[in-house]
Amino acid sequence: MDAERIALITGANKGIGLQVAKELALLGYTVLIGARSETLGKEVANGLVEEGLRAAFVPIDVTNIESIRAAESMIHEQFGKLDVLINNAGIALDSGIPPSQVDIEVLRKTFETNVFGTFQVFQTMLPLLRRAEAARVVNVSSGLGSLTLNSDPDYEYAKVKLLAYNSSKTTLNALTVQFAHELKATSIKVNSADPGFTATDLNGHRGTRTVEQAARIIVRLATLPGSGPTGGFFDENGPVPW
Ligand code: NAP
Repeated sequence: MDAERIALITGANKGIGLQVAKELALLGYTVLIGARSETLGKEVANGLVEEGLRAAFVPIDVTNIESIRAAESMIHEQFGKLDVLINNAGIALDSGIPPSQVDIEVLRKTFETNVFGTFQVFQTMLPLLRRAEAARVVNVSSGLGSLTLNSDPDYEYAKVKLLAYNSSKTTLNALTVQFAHELKATSIKVNSADPGFTATDLNGHRGTRTVEQAARIIVRLATLPGSGPTGGFFDENGPVPW
């Protein structure tokens, strides 16, 4: 790559976000390890630097607007632009009980991170994304956010009806569609990725896929050519129904 390209990954201290950060660093990006834990974020960034890659820790809690603004200022001062934003930070709090019994606090907390947090990171970073030549934004969603799949009794995960988590990812997909629409006349592309059921802390490592498999579609969408799609929802096999 000729010019230095900057990628910010939220929740990059572990799981899928960490794998995506490693792969983008290997592709030559300067990766900004967004994490709310200074110890874990620095550990990951220093590890990549020791491997000869370009990385730095950026403190960011997606539910804390001050931390997002501070991250924006730091990126602005040091790099002046942002080429890739991976909105990866996410939580799953549901216990699997039916909607009639779900505590509204579980919905509120889940949306606070997965939806409102992602929204405020995206909105705050947008001026920096506009300063890049052709920025890419990937919202890390889930097949569980697909209303079409959720309504299909034959869907592999039809029984996984996690009201807060699933609906937060449906709403995240709505952000993808609306931001992509606003930005359609620009060179910025915005897409949702479904990494698949992956063994991470999020699901007590019950997932059947590896983080390497999960990262594939995210990295692909982060590095799309100018002819690539925007405003879509994809897994590694192609489009996922909304
Ligand atoms: P994970 O290992 O639990 O990682 C989640 C990451 O998000 C952690 O780094 C966590 O930081 C961070 N995070 C949570 N809340 C945050 C906040 N308020 N501010 C900043 N960072 C925050 O889970 P994962 O499976 O890699 O999940 C990554 C993304 O993939 C999530 O959006 C998830 O919904 C999505 N996804 C996962 C699967 C799957 O099967 N694993 C499937 C589909 C989609 P801490 O270490 O500080 O908690």
